[in-house]
Amino acid sequence: MRADPIQRAIDEDLVRVLYAQDPIAFFTHWFSIAVLVAIYWNNIPHPHLFAACFIFYGFANCASLALWMCNRRWAESVSPRTWINLHAARGALLYSAPGFAIWFAFQSPHTDLPILHTVMLVTLAAGVFMSNGFDVANFVTAIPFLLLPAIVLHFGTHTFDRTILAIVLAFFFCAINVYALSYRKLFQRVVQARVDQQALAESLAAQKLVAEEASLAKTRFFAAASHDLRQPLHAIGLLAASLNDTSATPVQHAKTANNIANNVEALNQLFNQVLDLARLESGVTQVIRLHFRLSELFDRVGNQYWPQAAAKGLALRIAPTDTVIHDDPVLLERILSNLLSNAVRYTESGAIWMGFRRAGRSEGGYIEVRDSGIGIPRAEQGRIFEEFYQVANPQRDARQGHGLGLPTVKRLVEMLGGQLQLRSAPGRGSVFRFPVQAGDPARIVAGLNDSVASGGAALGRHVLCIDDEPAILEGIQSLLGRWGCIVRGVPDERLALLAIDEGFMPDAVLCDYQLANHRTGAQALGAVRDALRKRGRERVVTLLITGDMASVELEALAMQGIPVLHKPVTPARLRRTLEMLWQQPGAVADKPGDRAESVTSEQPLTTRG
Ligand code: ADP
Repeated sequence: MRADPIQRAIDEDLVRVLYAQDPIAFFTHWFSIAVLVAIYWNNIPHPHLFAACFIFYGFANCASLALWMCNRRWAESVSPRTWINLHAARGALLYSAPGFAIWFAFQSPHTDLPILHTVMLVTLAAGVFMSNGFDVANFVTAIPFLLLPAIVLHFGTHTFDRTILAIVLAFFFCAINVYALSYRKLFQRVVQARVDQQALAESLAAQKLVAEEASLAKTRFFAAASHDLRQPLHAIGLLAASLNDTSATPVQHAKTANNIANNVEALNQLFNQVLDLARLESGVTQVIRLHFRLSELFDRVGNQYWPQAAAKGLALRIAPTDTVIHDDPVLLERILSNLLSNAVRYTESGAIWMGFRRAGRSEGGYIEVRDSGIGIPRAEQGRIFEEFYQVANPQRDARQGHGLGLPTVKRLVEMLGGQLQLRSAPGRGSVFRFPVQAGDPARIVAGLNDSVASGGAALGRHVLCIDDEPAILEGIQSLLGRWGCIVRGVPDERLALLAIDEGFMPDAVLCDYQLANHRTGAQALGAVRDALRKRGRERVVTLLITGDMASVELEALAMQGIPVLHKPVTPARLRRTLEMLWQQPGAVADKPGDRAESVTSEQPLTTRG
């Protein structure tokens, strides 16, 4: 049996073609009745039987037409398969009458009448082949009734010419069955091709719709993005021009400079948001799961938003929890920061609640952020996850955000393997929630807030830095030196290998992605790792720093678990990443811990693209 949709399509086509022939067949059968009556008119051996048989034939023919009319009127009331079976039953009735009627001819003293009757039957059989041959049920309920009585009859006479006729008829019977078989296969192939073509056309149409929607979304994205980017730039241009105004007082100059700085900061924030989103899209962001206490993360994020909430007179309530989860704390922090910042922004009175709920899950549970704010109308609840979409900011006032927070949150939650859920009603607040995995308290290796605070992991570590930009190399060397690291800076892969040859055994290798002579950081790190492996240093911390967003190579590195930091990298971020990597089990000198990137903002470390 075929897959259901195709079998159904075949059945629907069968019903169409089977019933389409019936009005013509109706007239053909009356013609056949007339011919047979004419053949026997002068010689009717058993008039009652003859009359009964032909009345039955006429009745079956009319019943067949009635069935056709029912099909036209109530086509949808039963399944296509039922219509096919009804048509086959009607075939058995209809064709048995002319088929069995040949027995009257046999009783007749006129020997050539059965031959004329046989010719008539062969003609009808050819018609059955054309109109019903593509369905097995309709074919086998017609042809045997038409031909088998004649074949049996002719064989039964035991005369030479009738036996020959019987043999010819039997051959015809077999041949017509074989042809009908290939006819049916052909029909099924044609229907299958039509169904495939239709499915293809539908999927193309759907893809076209998706592409059109994507193109529309892109247009909206660029319109909003260019507006939001141009706005501060425009302001900066005007403010910078006013600095040339010699009549302005120093106080006015200071105010203008301050305004410029604010606009630059706004621009910077917007760029960071857009780059964050692009990084998530490009698939290079890694998920690194740790076992940690959720309360530590809640405290950390809560502390950031508590002052803002208090300034608006809102209560920020964090539900106490001793739950341990196994998730990426850095990505979770970004999710919660976005949700809390929205909750504070869109709530004017009442409270904001952040907490953990099992909500019926045996393993893990959900993190929920609730507010008693303005709420989101149902019609907007799908669109707020589109980039740059805001419910009520038609003037695109940058102070009211840019519409990038929720798209980022949604992608982050999906990266962590969950679905962001929203429950909201205008005037009644909003609830955002997403699932988190259960952790194991025995596998907590460090508190979330420990590593940077203690900072001991960097002290005395050997770090090899590869960057062909002397200024950046110098900057990193001095920074790492201040953290107590023993640093060796080299401009390329060759000198990095030389340093190893000379006995510099690094605990970490930091490498820029774009190196001189068309070499990439990935290639340099590969060579350095090989060299270290040969010297028995299997697991050295390697870290790639890049300004590139989406290259196949970066994606491959991300898949291999090689950490990649994207520029601009803040010192805090670099330090946290290094310390966490060093603390990971199996890193060069095992100290307990795991990796996490900090989102604390400090001065960017590197700026080259
Ligand atoms: P932004 O907050 O920067 O405008 P988001 O992507 O975070 O961008 O949110 C998109 C829109 O969703 C917001 O403009 C706002 O209208 C709506 N929204 C988000 N969070 C909330 C919330 N907690 N309560 C009410 N509306 C919200």
